[in-house]
Amino acid sequence: MRIDIATLFPEMCGAYLSESIIGRARKSGKIEVYCHQIRDYAFDRHNRVDDSPYGGGMGMVMKARPIYDCYKSVTKDFAEKPHVVYMSPKGTVLTQKKAAGLSEMPALFIICGHYEGVDQRLIDKIVDEEISVGDYVLTGGELPALVLTDAVARMCGGVLPSPECFEEESHYNGLLEYPHYTRPEEWEGMKVPDVLLSGNHADIKKYRHNEALRITSQRRPDMLENSGN
Ligand code: SAM
Repeated sequence: MRIDIATLFPEMCGAYLSESIIGRARKSGKIEVYCHQIRDYAFDRHNRVDDSPYGGGMGMVMKARPIYDCYKSVTKDFAEKPHVVYMSPKGTVLTQKKAAGLSEMPALFIICGHYEGVDQRLIDKIVDEEISVGDYVLTGGELPALVLTDAVARMCGGVLPSPECFEEESHYNGLLEYPHYTRPEEWEGMKVPDVLLSGNHADIKKYRHNEALRITSQRRPDMLENSGN
């Protein structure tokens, strides 16, 4: 899969995307992720990418043309239009299911807003969907774009050692995950549950499922309502 991120702060994104699991997946060619500087597509001599809003009001609005020119330049040799996402607090809130769906797509083009956001005409022209990372407002779309890229990339084939790595995790099957323990067997007077030391895989599986149900019903009863669990 290929992901392109259009941003005013590519270094911010690049730092995160070069480390750990995503960084390794990029290096080994399991996924391609590129960050593009929108300012490189500014067309006036002051390199302006934003201007004051028509109708007045606080803040600045990102101009449509530099983002559009960035999009056109990046995708000029693409065989088909990528799925274009604008990160926005007005969008549909990201879920594991949405991330799984997007991980099946061949290419994503993600637009990071800043200031008051981007000119609506750019959204109307090229954006397929607006995605939010939650009901709060951040200063820019870079963290949301990284959240989306991470959630999508880890579900792409070969990025994690096997699909089991995410299939048991929170949200994948409508449950929050069971608790984890590692060495030592006792720490600060607290012991690892006996069943996890028993070697009985059927009992361990049952214990973990029951724990997942318990935690989900305590913390997110809403998730159990339509999940069939
Ligand atoms: N004026 C906008 C509004 O009230 O909806 C908020 C603009 S916000 C300060 C600047 C940029 O940050 C947005 O264009 C968007 O790209 C990004 N952003 C902020 N909060 C976000 C969220 N919860 N989810 C996704 N993107 C967000």
